[in-house]
Order: sequence, then C-alpha cells, then structure tokens
Amino acid sequence: NINPLNVLALDVESTPDARILPLASGLADHLFEHDGQITKREIRAMTLSALAPRRGELLWDIGAGSGSVGIEWMLAHPSLRAIAIEADKERAARIRRNASHCGVPGLVVIEGPAPKAFARLEAPDAIFIGGGGSDAGVLEKAIKALRTGGRLVANAVTLEMEGLLLVQHNKHGGDLIRIAISRAAPVGSMQAWRPAMPVTQWSWVK
Ligand code: SAH
Repeated sequence: NINPLNVLALDVESTPDARILPLASGLADHLFEHDGQITKREIRAMTLSALAPRRGELLWDIGAGSGSVGIEWMLAHPSLRAIAIEADKERAARIRRNASHCGVPGLVVIEGPAPKAFARLEAPDAIFIGGGGSDAGVLEKAIKALRTGGRLVANAVTLEMEGLLLVQHNKHGGDLIRIAISRAAPVGSMQAWRPAMPVTQWSWVK
C-alpha cells in the first residue's frame, strides 16, 4: 500500500531525471511509451471524468494499448485498482513498463483477447473499452460482468464500433457524445486547424 504519489516525490529527490507527474487526469501523451495506439490526452481526460473513480474501486481497461487509462485511474487515488486486458504481446509488455515508470506497478496486466480474458476476473466497478469492442461478445459480456451501480465507458473511432454503441445506447440509455478535437498546425507561414478523427463515447451507469 505504498502511495504512488509519495514514491514519485522520493524519485524527484533521488534521481535527477525523474519526471514530475501532474495530479490531474489527461497527462501528456509523451509521458507514456506508445506506438501511436493511445487514447489522446484530451479524450483521456474526458474518459477518466466519465469513469468517475471512487475510493477502492476496480477498473477493467479493455484493449488497454499503452495502459494509459488504467494508469491514470490508479494515479487518481492509491486505493484504486485496475486490470489491463490487452491482446497484443508487445503492447502488454509496454503496459507493464509504463505502469512501473508512472509509479503504479500494481496494475495487473492480462495478456489475451477479450472476451475470453474476462474469465475468472474479479467483477469490476468500472469498465473502459478502448479496443476490441467490436469483437464478438465483448460489449455484452462487459455489460454483464459490471457490478450494479458501476460505470461503463466505451470509445469508438470506426463507424462499425459507433454502430454498436448506438445499439447499446438505444437499449440501455446513458450518454452518447461525440468528441472532435482540432489542433493548430502550420500551413505554410500561417496556421490552420488539423482535426483528429472524432471519437464517439457511450457512458452508462448499470
Ligand atoms: N486506450 C489505449 C489505446 C487502445 S488502442 C491507450 O490509451 O493506450 C486499442 C487496443 O486494443 C490495441 O492495443 C489492440 O491490440 C487492443 N485490442 C483489440 N482487440 C482486442 C481484444 N479483443 N482484446 C484485447 N485487446 C484488444
């Protein structure tokens, strides 16, 4: 039960290259090792807000990629626990490195595809689906596994995944939002908005 924030504070004094992590969710993308498959900072901040962690809760981070969402969940409070489920072997190893570099080595990584990987895991208080959501049975089994009163947040970039979220929203209710972020980027000597692909987010309380 070491407070990760204290560990980071100690690191700052003992190692000159230690990083200082801000306390708010939505850390800069470069603080995580990733291969481009990462929930970007602004979307991640909104995702953590919708996941709404409460003391002592357990998160399943499905299609965890770099692990950024599960890591930020655990950074929110030392009592929080998370299980990262990731099908890709290299990414699973990267999640372990990121967790340890960010001061939350207690993040549990399950290497394997959802929904098969759900078997025998402790029922979660919150679920994030950042990948694998369009694979057969993932959404339905996640909904089933979630504790009553728990939150489910699922992000879609593809139309196929968005279609599945629309079906669940019609069936269960909750909030369906579309997040469109643009960033100023150079165009010749001037600047213009470069839009990122919009993300559709369904969030629901069971
Ligand atoms: N939220 C992550 C990014 C997710 S990218 C982050 O912030 O880093 C989507 C991830 O889902 C990829 O890493 C991909 O390997 C994984 N994935 C796809 N289908 C999956 C499945 N059925 N089970 C587990 N992981 C899956």
